[in-house]
Amino acid sequence: MRLLMVLVGMAVLGAWWLNRRGETAPSQEQIPTQQSRVAESAAASAPRYRLSPLAEAPKWSELDAWQNAFTRQEFEGDLTRYFTCSERWRDFFEFSDDHVMIVESVLEPNRKYRLNFAKPGEEKKVERKGLSRVDRVQQDPAQCLRGLHIAIDAGHLGGEWAQMEERWFTIGNGKPVTEGDMTLYVARLLKPMLEAHGAQVSLVRERTQPITQDRPAGLLSQVRAQQPALATPMDQWKAAESLFYRTSEIRARATYVNQNLKPDLVLCLHFNAVAWGDPANPQLVDENHLHILLHGAYTDDELSYDDQRYEMTRKILQKTIHEEAAVAAVRAEFDTRAQRRRSSVSVGKKSVSQSFV
Ligand SMILES: [Zn+2]
Repeated sequence: MRLLMVLVGMAVLGAWWLNRRGETAPSQEQIPTQQSRVAESAAASAPRYRLSPLAEAPKWSELDAWQNAFTRQEFEGDLTRYFTCSERWRDFFEFSDDHVMIVESVLEPNRKYRLNFAKPGEEKKVERKGLSRVDRVQQDPAQCLRGLHIAIDAGHLGGEWAQMEERWFTIGNGKPVTEGDMTLYVARLLKPMLEAHGAQVSLVRERTQPITQDRPAGLLSQVRAQQPALATPMDQWKAAESLFYRTSEIRARATYVNQNLKPDLVLCLHFNAVAWGDPANPQLVDENHLHILLHGAYTDDELSYDDQRYEMTRKILQKTIHEEAAVAAVRAEFDTRAQRRRSSVSVGKKSVSQSFV
């Protein structure tokens, strides 16, 4: 009977899910052709990867910057507390006291990356980009965000794309409610409020148009090659639309954030709805609650993709989760006290608010 709108803020500090297109190795889903097999034998050492849609091949050697920067206890602690949901990680991470061997490619399980640990107290210092400015944030409450560059990502597209991205509904003859327009509206409200406290604020998008250059028609051949189970043209077209407005668009935004904006903090704004109730008589309710989602809690399925396992490892090594959890907990506590609303902080499906609030 009830439709509940929920504002979801997804705070991601520091580097995002990196996306640089091109140079992609063949994914498991791609059927090897005679030509690709010949090319493969010619470059026998080139690794093959199981990649998520539109992902680029991981560059494990880029983790070398963090050799001897962690103790085993610190790395394993963050891996198990924040970043994984089950014991499945044991299929890919083999710990010894002074190093961990990480499976680089599930297609070539013997290809492993070795990350060396430091002894406690002997960790190599790794300079961190972006977040160093957080340390210089002034304590003056009126200007408490000075020195901080915040990017606001208004989730989804809205406008003419709202129905395609399935972020659109109407009640009776009412005006359509479109999430992508609402998030942009909130982003524009939020920008001057944060600036008034000294922050530099960038909007990841300023209008209801995609950042990606891809469009569904151009992605159709990829869908047909990678998802042969989709038999009907309509199913294939729907998958191409999803690859455009979700996967490609999110990756394009990540690239823009990482390579152009380079902020200290990214706020991704979304509105969620709970169960619709009686579809014949939907009602909006005057109730609200806040969720803050952080990067973490990889599912078993996500861990089995080489690019996602690589991004998770790099995210652990960047050590941003501790600041993210602390910032989110402060925000949630404020919301609970000041707004008398329910609020929670989760890393993926894991609630961490109790530990920090
Ligand atoms: Zn959303």
